[in-house]
Amino acid sequence: MTANKKTTTNVNKASASERGNASAASMKAWHTLPGDAALQSLESRLDGLTPSEAKARLARHGPNQLPEVKRRTIAAMIADQFKDFMILLLIGAAVVSGVIGEPQDTIAILVIVLLNAVIGFVQEIRAERAMEALKKLAAPNAVVRREGQTLEIPAVNIVSGDIVLLEAGRIVPADLRLLEVASLRIAEAVLTGESMPVEKTVDAVPDHDAALGDRKNMAYKGTQVVYGRGVGVVAETGISTELGRIANLLGSEKEVKTPLQKRLAVFGRNLGLAALAICALVFVVGVMRGEDVVLMFLTAVSLAVAAVPEALPAVVTITLALGARRMVRTHALIRKLPAVETLGSVTYICTDKTGTLTQNKMKAERFSVNGSMVSGRPAICNESWTWLLRGAALCNDVSAAGEQEEQSTVGDPTEVALYEVAAEGGFRREHLEEDWPRIDEIPFDSERKCMTTFHTSPEGGWVSFTKGAAEVIVDRSLDRLGEDGTLPLDSERIGREIEAMADDGLRVLGIAMRRWKDMPSSFAPEEVEKDLTFVGLAGLMDPPRPEAEEAIGLCKSAGIRPVMITGDHPATALAIARRLGIADGPDDILTGKELAALSLDEFERIVQEVRVYARVAPEQKVKIVRALQDKGEFVAMTGDGVNDAPALKRAEIGVAMGITGTDVAKEASHMILLDDNFATIVHAVREGRRIYDNIRKFVKYTMTSNSGEIWTIFLAPFLGLPIPLLPIHILWINLVTDGLPGLAYAAEPEEKGLMTRPPKPPKETLFAHGLGAQIIWIGLLMGAASLATQGWAFYTDHAHWQTMVFTVLCLSQLGNALAIRSDRESLF
Ligand code: ATP
Repeated sequence: MTANKKTTTNVNKASASERGNASAASMKAWHTLPGDAALQSLESRLDGLTPSEAKARLARHGPNQLPEVKRRTIAAMIADQFKDFMILLLIGAAVVSGVIGEPQDTIAILVIVLLNAVIGFVQEIRAERAMEALKKLAAPNAVVRREGQTLEIPAVNIVSGDIVLLEAGRIVPADLRLLEVASLRIAEAVLTGESMPVEKTVDAVPDHDAALGDRKNMAYKGTQVVYGRGVGVVAETGISTELGRIANLLGSEKEVKTPLQKRLAVFGRNLGLAALAICALVFVVGVMRGEDVVLMFLTAVSLAVAAVPEALPAVVTITLALGARRMVRTHALIRKLPAVETLGSVTYICTDKTGTLTQNKMKAERFSVNGSMVSGRPAICNESWTWLLRGAALCNDVSAAGEQEEQSTVGDPTEVALYEVAAEGGFRREHLEEDWPRIDEIPFDSERKCMTTFHTSPEGGWVSFTKGAAEVIVDRSLDRLGEDGTLPLDSERIGREIEAMADDGLRVLGIAMRRWKDMPSSFAPEEVEKDLTFVGLAGLMDPPRPEAEEAIGLCKSAGIRPVMITGDHPATALAIARRLGIADGPDDILTGKELAALSLDEFERIVQEVRVYARVAPEQKVKIVRALQDKGEFVAMTGDGVNDAPALKRAEIGVAMGITGTDVAKEASHMILLDDNFATIVHAVREGRRIYDNIRKFVKYTMTSNSGEIWTIFLAPFLGLPIPLLPIHILWINLVTDGLPGLAYAAEPEEKGLMTRPPKPPKETLFAHGLGAQIIWIGLLMGAASLATQGWAFYTDHAHWQTMVFTVLCLSQLGNALAIRSDRESLF
C-alpha cells in the first residue's frame, strides 16, 4: 500500500505526515483518489482478485471483523462456580468443622460442592456454545467479484482489493471506494448520526479533510444501502475501517436480560432474603436449645445454600439457549434470546404473502396483448407480443449462468418468470442486450411498485421499458400498442382483464414502453415513468405452500390470528388467502390506500377485523403493528426489505426472511426464518410455548422442593424434635434429588393440547395460576410427611430416624417431580 505515487498531492502530503502509521494515512486518503488510482494502489482490477490472491491477503491482514467482546476463559468460568458467597461460606464452614470435628464430613461436603460446580460449568459451556453457533449462523454475507465470477461469501473473509457489489438492503461489509453507482443511496447514521441517506457518486473528493458524510465516493462498513446499486473496491477491512476506529468508543454490546430473567432475579433476591432470615432463626433456635454451635452453623448455611434460588436466572438462560439451538434444526434462527420466551405469547402473526405463504416459484401462465387474453404462449409472434417479450427480457435484472439447457438463473422469482418466458420465445436477455444495451435504470421499489430501464435502440434513439404492478402501469400510460402503431388506451377493458387474472390468484404485471428522441434531462421517476405506451399484461402463478394451510389451521386452534400483508393486488391476495383459510371474502381486506386514509384511532377500531392487507407499502406495516399493540395484541411480523426494518424492530417478534431477506431486515429482526416458510413461524411459536412451560415447571419444582426442605428443618424444633437432617443430607438433597430432575425439565416433551390452548397473556407472570400458594402448601405437605415420620420414629426410639426422614423427603421430592410434569394430565 505504499504505491501511492500516481495519486494527488494531497495524498502524498498525508502519507508523508503520517508515515509512521501507514494504515491511518491511507485510510484518510481513499476519497481523494480517482477510482482507477484506488484500484491500482490496492493492486486490484474490476473483475476482482483471484481466489489465491484473496487467500494470501486474508492470511496477511486477518479477517474483516471488529474485535470481539472478550470471552470468559474456561478457568474463569470454573472459578465463577465458586464465587457465590453462600458456597464460599459453606466451604469455610466445612473446613472449620473438619478441623475440630470429623474430617469425613468435610470431604463429603467438598465433593458435593465440586459436583455442583461441575454441573453448573457443563451447563454454562453448553449454553455458551449454543449461542456462539447461533451467532455464526446469523453472520452476514457479502457479494464479491473474484476472477470475473460473482460470489456470495461470509463478510469476514473480505480482503482489501476485493470488488464488492452493493444493492438495496445490504449492509456495507467493509470500507469501499465506489467505482460504479446507480442511484445508490446509503444511510450512514451509525457513523455520522445523520438519518437522511446520502446519494453516492464515484468522483474523487479533493478535500483531504472532508467530513465522513461528504466523502460521497466512499461506502463505509456497517452503513446500510437503502436504494439503488453500486460496485466498490475494498479499501479497508476490520479494525482499520471507520467503524473499527469507533468500535472501542461504542463499547461492547451488553448482554440483554430477558423479561423473565429480570423478574426472576428480583424474585430470587427477595426470596433469598426471606430464606436467610429463616436460616438465621433456625440457627438461633437450635443454639438456644443447646445444640452444638458448629453443627447448627453448618446446618443453617447448608439450608441457606439449598434454599436460596440463586441459579434460577442462569437456568432460564441455559434453557432458552438450548431451546434456541433446537429451533435452528427446524429452520428458526433466534437472534435475540428473549424471543424464545416471548414467542409463546404471540397472538397475531402478520406475514408476507410472496415466498412465505406461497412457494415463490413463479410461472407466467396468462397474457394480454393487443386487446386479447391468451393462456400460455400464443402461436403467432406479432408486433405487440414481440414488444412484450422484449420488455420482459430487457427490463429485468436476472443474471443467468451457463448455456441453454444447463442454464441457471439468479434473481427475483417475478423476474425469473418473465426472463424465462421471454427466453423461450427467443428473446434471451444476454443476446438482446447486444443490440439494445442498457444505459441507465430506475430500480424497482415497493413504494412505486415498478421499475424502468433505458436502452439504445438499434432503430435509432432510445427506448425505455417500465414494468410493475398492472394498475400502476395502466395509470402511467397514455395509449396502447396495437399491431400498427398506437391505439387509444381502453383502461376499463384492461382493468377487467387485471381483475379476472387476479381473481384466479395470478400476480399481474404490466409492461409499457416509451420512445425517446433525446435522452430525458433528469432520471427522476416522476419525469420518466409517465406518458407510457401500454404493451401488455403477464399473469404469474405462485402456488401456495402446501404446508401453509395446515400451519394456518394450527394458528387458529392456538388462538393466534394469521394476517396477510402484501404488496400484491387485492384480488390476487384474496384468492390466495381464501385458498389458505386466512380470509373469507372481500370484507376481510383493507388496501394500502384505505389504510392511509384512516387515522390511527379509526384504524384501531377495525384493526382486529382485517385479515388481509393488499397493495400496502412496507412503511405502513409500522402502523399495523402499532394499532395491534395498542389493542393489547402481541405481534409477530415478517419482512425482508429495507423498509420493513422499522416494523420488524417494533413488533414483539420481528421475523426476517433468511433466503430473500436483506441484511438490514435481518439485523432488525429477533428471529430469522432460514427457509422463509410460514409454517416455520408456527413451529417456533409451538417450541416457544413448550420451552416456557418447561421453565415454569422447573421453577415450580425447585421452589416447592426448597420450601419442603425449609419447612422440615424450620418446624422440627417447634415440635420439640431435634434437627432432622445433617448438613450433608441437605446438600445431597439440593444437588441430587433437587438439582438433577430439575435439569431434566429442559428436555421435557410438549404437553398434549399445547396448540389448542390460547396464548399466555403477555403480562401474566410466571407465578400466575396460584404458583405462589402451591409453593407454600406443597412444601408444607412434604414437610408434614417428613416430620410425621421423624416424630413417630424419634418417639418410638428408632435408631434410624434420621435415615427415615432423609428417605421420605427424597422420595416425596421425586414424587413431586413426576407430579409437576403436567398441570392438566394424570401421571398415568
Ligand atoms: P409480499 O409482501 O407478499 O412479499 P410483494 O412481493 O408483492 O408482496 P412487493 O415486492 O412490494 O410486494 O411488490 C409489489 C408489487 O410490485 C407486486 O405485486 C408486483 O406487481 C410489483 N413487482 C414486484 N416485483 C417487481 C419487479 N421486480 N419489477 C416490477 N414490478 C414488480
